[in-house]
Amino acid sequence: MTHPQSTRAAALSRLADFTANMGHNYAHKRNFDYGPNADTEQDGWRDNVSRLSPYIRSKLLTEQELITAAVKAHGAQGADKFIAEVLWRGYFKGWLEQRPEVWADYVTNRDAKFKKLKAQGGLRKIYEQATEGRTGIDAFDHWAKELVETGYLHNHARMWFASIWMFTLKLPWELGADFFLQHLIDGDPASNTLSWRWVGGLHTKGKTYLATKENITQFTDGRFTPVGLAAETVPLEEDKNYKLRPLKIPPAPPAAAAFALLVHEDDCHPESLILPQKPSLIIGVSGSDGKSPKGVSDKVRAFSNGAVTDALVRAADHFSCDTVTWNKGEKLRDVLAKAKLERLLSPWLPVGALKDAIGKEISGNNVRWVMREYDAAIWPLATKGFFPVKKKAPDALRAMGMEL
Ligand SMILES: Cc1cc2nc3c(=O)[nH]c(=O)nc-3n(C[C@H](O)[C@H](O)[C@H](O)COP(=O)(O)OP(=O)(O)OC[C@H]3O[C@@H](n4cnc5c(N)ncnc54)[C@H](O)[C@@H]3O)c2cc1C
Repeated sequence: MTHPQSTRAAALSRLADFTANMGHNYAHKRNFDYGPNADTEQDGWRDNVSRLSPYIRSKLLTEQELITAAVKAHGAQGADKFIAEVLWRGYFKGWLEQRPEVWADYVTNRDAKFKKLKAQGGLRKIYEQATEGRTGIDAFDHWAKELVETGYLHNHARMWFASIWMFTLKLPWELGADFFLQHLIDGDPASNTLSWRWVGGLHTKGKTYLATKENITQFTDGRFTPVGLAAETVPLEEDKNYKLRPLKIPPAPPAAAAFALLVHEDDCHPESLILPQKPSLIIGVSGSDGKSPKGVSDKVRAFSNGAVTDALVRAADHFSCDTVTWNKGEKLRDVLAKAKLERLLSPWLPVGALKDAIGKEISGNNVRWVMREYDAAIWPLATKGFFPVKKKAPDALRAMGMEL
């Protein structure tokens, strides 16, 4: 298979190809993982799912555009299942944004588990077998290699993989989540951390996801019949109840003096941001390596660097202004001073590794955050479970002028 091109043009092309499948086809076939079959790629391998996640994760394509395309082609009812899945993403983003300690604790515990791995030979052996695809569980071994080779796994495979990781191999969930972030091109702090927690019974307390041979055989279309899987799950436990910190939506930045606009890998579509006026300079920054203490794969790094580069090229054209790159080790203040600019605007930087790495430095530069209308409409709804979000989302999206 070829890897996704990290450009807006490639995102729009994939969207155009997949839109016809967002209705009945998606609702009935999305749970099947037919596998990455390079021979049929041109004929639409995996056309039961969109494979748009790297574009959505980097906002080369926005959720608003995705839902608009789905409704236009199939109607809100016809595209209900697809829209619900897109809303899961917004739900997870909003949930983590309002409980940032969940991410901070994940990072602390992940690092502690890596230390434990160094000290315990037995645990280290199982971890190495799992990440190198040598456990002897056919399906699991295939997915470990598929993830490393392609940078993608089908949603159902991610669920089975996480379940086997925790309940059959009894490995710490944080190390599995980290393995995903090293290799998933769509690796996202919210969707990834909260999905692993969901499978383990931490997100919906006490409710776990068990991967079974029958389910895997059915939904891989008979490709696998794994043996030796755990027959039951014991929900993971933690001694914390994370408090909701309601999201404060930043006010729209007022029109004023000249400013620089930041473009980071979490938001690579500056053209659709609501800005008070044209920026005088665009500053690009990427930094996917911080996602894991082990760094990320070349594919992950290339996609996020490419997405930022593509955004800079488009932004220079759209806003007719200069662009620069904020390189590692450089002070943002110096980049601004060189351009004789004092004001900075930045698209919202969500909870995650990039914010951990550069959030403080951006905040120290008189920044005004720009939050997208869609995120401001959906994220605050994520106070508890997903279903209230799904129920309230249509009204919230209609209020911002979307047709649903
Ligand atoms: C353990 C685990 C880890 C995951 N890690 C990530 C991650 O790091 N990044 C990520 O983007 N998704 C993650 N997901 C969610 C989901 O698996 C992927 O979004 C989806 O498989 C991407 O493929 P697609 O674009 O073909 O999805 P489609 O089925 O075509 O869905 C369209 C879009 O809806 C969103 N979406 C679909 N399913 C989900 C879901 N269950 N949760 C949240 N959003 C969803 C995605 O943006 C996706 O691109 C994870 C799921 C699990 C179980």
